[in-house]
Amino acid sequence: MLTIAKFGGSSLATAARFRAVKALIAADPARQGIVVSAPGRRAPEDSKLTDLLYAAHTLRQSGGDWLSPLGEIESRFSEIAQALSLPLDLSALKDGLRKNTLSRDAVASRGEYYCAALLARYLDRKLIDSADWLCFAPDGTVDAERSYAQLRRLADAPFVTPGFYGALNGEIKTLSRGGSDVTGALAAAALQADLYENWTDVPGVLTADPKIDPCAKPIPHLTYSELSALAEKGLQVLHEGAVRPVREKGIPMRIASSFQPELPGTWISGE
Ligand code: ASP
Repeated sequence: MLTIAKFGGSSLATAARFRAVKALIAADPARQGIVVSAPGRRAPEDSKLTDLLYAAHTLRQSGGDWLSPLGEIESRFSEIAQALSLPLDLSALKDGLRKNTLSRDAVASRGEYYCAALLARYLDRKLIDSADWLCFAPDGTVDAERSYAQLRRLADAPFVTPGFYGALNGEIKTLSRGGSDVTGALAAAALQADLYENWTDVPGVLTADPKIDPCAKPIPHLTYSELSALAEKGLQVLHEGAVRPVREKGIPMRIASSFQPELPGTWISGE
């Protein structure tokens, strides 16, 4: 049994969340492949790491105060690393910003990269950099077959890989926002996983927006087509590009909350 488990940004926003995720992974030995987003908001007024990285790059280009978002990025990662006694070296990002040698995509990708590096160390697992397996074709779409072959070659042990980016001609290129869901689906398809788990901060796909309807409940089961239709309409819980790779390989998906992992969440399959 092989499960690819993808954890969203709020699931990994603090050291306490890293501890919870470690316990969740340990609870099922099938969770061999882990895909992560960058740490997200700790509270509604907080910034996502990815937004801070975009801000740092934009300010660096425009001659603005890029050190301010960089300081926040550093303190967010240091807080997690220190609480869990993990090593952290952000010098490549800091030097790249200082020398202004990094592309916008390269800077944005570091949220997922450092998050995966910390989690891999914390779980004592292999870190597989997505730049080494997720390949883009020259037209900017993902070259699925090449990516699958690369991941199959690299995934010879339980691993953690960053979501959201890959490489095009040796340069970092990101997917669209929320793209770690797509990375997770591609990893599941590459390894012909038995299950793709998408761990988020809501207990599945809900019947309504809980901010509008507090009685909104998780939908127990959806087909891929139903989920695709919802994702295209702007369903917040999943990136629309995440359905196709698992659907093509017939891999069932589960969307559930890492804050309430005991709840079943929403199951998605062909039937
Ligand atoms: N961190 C990226 C974003 O904020 C990608 C993701 O979370 O999936 O869009």
